[in-house]
Amino acid sequence: MKDKSGHTRRIILGKVAVGGGAPVSIQSMTNTLTTDVTSTLYQIHALEAAGCDIVRVSIPDMESLEALPAIKKDTKIPLVADIHFDYRLAVGSIEAGADGVRINPGNIGSRQKVGEVARAAIEHDIPIRVGVNLGSIRRGILERFPGDHVSALVESAREHVEMLEDMGVEAIKVSLKSSDVLETIEINRRFAAISDRPLHIGVTEAGTLFSGLIRSSVGIGTLLLEGIGDTIRISLSDDPVKEVYAGQCLLESLNIRKQGVRVIACPTCARAQIDVPKIAAEIEEALAGEKIHLKVAVMGCIVNGPGEARDADIGIAGISDGSQLFVHGKFTRRIKTEEVVSTVLDEVRRETGR
Ligand code: SF4
Repeated sequence: MKDKSGHTRRIILGKVAVGGGAPVSIQSMTNTLTTDVTSTLYQIHALEAAGCDIVRVSIPDMESLEALPAIKKDTKIPLVADIHFDYRLAVGSIEAGADGVRINPGNIGSRQKVGEVARAAIEHDIPIRVGVNLGSIRRGILERFPGDHVSALVESAREHVEMLEDMGVEAIKVSLKSSDVLETIEINRRFAAISDRPLHIGVTEAGTLFSGLIRSSVGIGTLLLEGIGDTIRISLSDDPVKEVYAGQCLLESLNIRKQGVRVIACPTCARAQIDVPKIAAEIEEALAGEKIHLKVAVMGCIVNGPGEARDADIGIAGISDGSQLFVHGKFTRRIKTEEVVSTVLDEVRRETGR
């Protein structure tokens, strides 16, 4: 059960607190070959610059494990080693300095092997993330809940957590994942109702950029609005940096994190005097990862434009020979169309004092 304020227990990953009322953190995962240290580090640094809080790296084999110390040495954000099947890779990653390990006890094998991972995690004082998915649930549990994936996943997670607790592990985080959005929502609701362990939430194999964003936003967003979820990952079959931008956008949209620039733009119509999609996309791309919390409005004409533009921190509304610029609700000046993007970026820089 959660504490009186509804908080889960807190764990610490490197310098980042997860759970216990800590800000919801954003995670992503590298998709480079871990053995390619240069590319992996390049991606980790890009993720960090984009605002990622925790990064996960797969350790699928001994060669990847051998690369881990060099990666860890040049990484500032918490690094979680993602392990399947081989407990020795988990133990090795812990000894190599990983800030956390993600295992699925269901595919690690015997209790004794999981015990080895638990012993190493306790010795190095790092958390274990228990990842549960349908593919690795014990046959006995599946037989107890025939056709009921939700109950089977929740019971599997509960069992794994109990086993680690019996082994003396205190710092445990749990992820229960399904590629089905509604199932993801339900399993996390059910688990959150019976456990105070911090939850990593996400929709697994969410899909390509377009569908993945929608499915993740519905799944993760619903849970966050119910107060469930301590750390998130928006899984996309795309550049992981986009996962981080998407995570920021989601947290900002839900008013969970007041950070980042929200670009609003009209859908355009026959009245549009400027190329709203192009201008909005250029501004959004240039300001992705920006820490300051601002609203920028890009509106196509003066029918609805000035109202929305005035309501934003920085707003533009298209007119026949350019745009009107509004700053903090006040009409400031007219600008030429070709100056719109640079002017908005200058205004944002002025806000940030840069
Ligand atoms: Fe159309 Fe103007 Fe509204 Fe944009 S702001 S949708 S251009 S009426």
